[in-house]
Amino acid sequence: MPRNRTRAVPVGAVTIGGGAPIAVQSMAATRTQDVEATVRQVNLLQAAGADLVRIAVDSRRDAEALAEIRRRTTATLSVDLQENYRLAVLVAPHVDKIRYNPGHLYHHEREKPVREKVALIAEAAAAHDCALRVGVNCGSVDPEQSAAHGEDDVGAMVASALEHCALLDGLGFTRYVVSLKDSDWRKVVDANRRFAAQRPDVPLHLGVTEAGMPPEGVIKTRIAFEQLLGQGVGDTVRVSLTVPFERKGEEIAAAREIIDDIAHGRFRSVPDWFDHGLNIISCPSCSRVENEAFVELAQQVKQVAAYARDYDITIAVMGCRVNGPGETDGADLGLWCGPAAVNLKRGSELLGAFPYDRVLDRLRVALDELIAQQRAGAR
Ligand code: SF4
Repeated sequence: MPRNRTRAVPVGAVTIGGGAPIAVQSMAATRTQDVEATVRQVNLLQAAGADLVRIAVDSRRDAEALAEIRRRTTATLSVDLQENYRLAVLVAPHVDKIRYNPGHLYHHEREKPVREKVALIAEAAAAHDCALRVGVNCGSVDPEQSAAHGEDDVGAMVASALEHCALLDGLGFTRYVVSLKDSDWRKVVDANRRFAAQRPDVPLHLGVTEAGMPPEGVIKTRIAFEQLLGQGVGDTVRVSLTVPFERKGEEIAAAREIIDDIAHGRFRSVPDWFDHGLNIISCPSCSRVENEAFVELAQQVKQVAAYARDYDITIAVMGCRVNGPGETDGADLGLWCGPAAVNLKRGSELLGAFPYDRVLDRLRVALDELIAQQRAGAR
């Protein structure tokens, strides 16, 4: 299998890049403060063959829970920071890698230069033998880069990643990897190719975010990985699937199967129907999910919308208010979950917030309207 000559980034017992075997990772979908459940899911993923398991931390109490989780598992752990970048100092002693999102560094302390925030994260990582991931995500790109690149949203993602690589290099911190994720596999391929052409030395973490439920979520991810890993781009992967707790190990099994197929030259051509018809994207869920009914809701959306399979309509189902509002903007219909209600959107317009047991009826109405419009346009 051809591999780009990236530098080796040690992450606990794992090495990412430098020709090491492609590491497979996943993320706990539990509430981090539910230590019992999180430890159980981390261990479930480790038993399924995960090289690395990520946990989200949004608060001091999450960071305290993380310390306890660390004591109770041998898994190599990574942590996902959101807006509160200062938590890096609290989490670094307990994990092997810290992921930060450049697009989220703008929310706190707006007057402070981004370089200072990155420096704080890098210092915490260096002091505790941690690697970093610069995790750029389509739904939360640095607003300055988005403004500068206009329609070229992939260009904005790539520019943001390159900017943060330069910042880290300038700080003398080179133990990092980069990810550029989107829910559209084409953009994932485009972004990673463009980045790798400019920084072939930086290891890449590949993934199609909010890929959805199996089998479609696996198919989208497989297409992206075939295009990228098949050309030597990518050093670690995650397959993001919306599946219930006990089936989370399917993410690892799917990733290993895809890598093995590519390594043996078993490429599957893109089914010609795949680019057309109903496309349901849904996040894999994580500790930020505010109502555990989310996974069931995503499955119900798939069932309820099945009658629209021949229409070019994208429905996005997201688990929380952190990424839900932004990452549903690009879909024809979007649902993002709050504690007691589900917010339903049409494009970027909010149609309302509906109780969990009523939102599917309202979704059906909105879907019917879209189908009517597509039919009228086809006449
Ligand atoms: S949308 Fe929210 S709940 Fe879903 S994976 Fe992203 S952060 Fe987690």
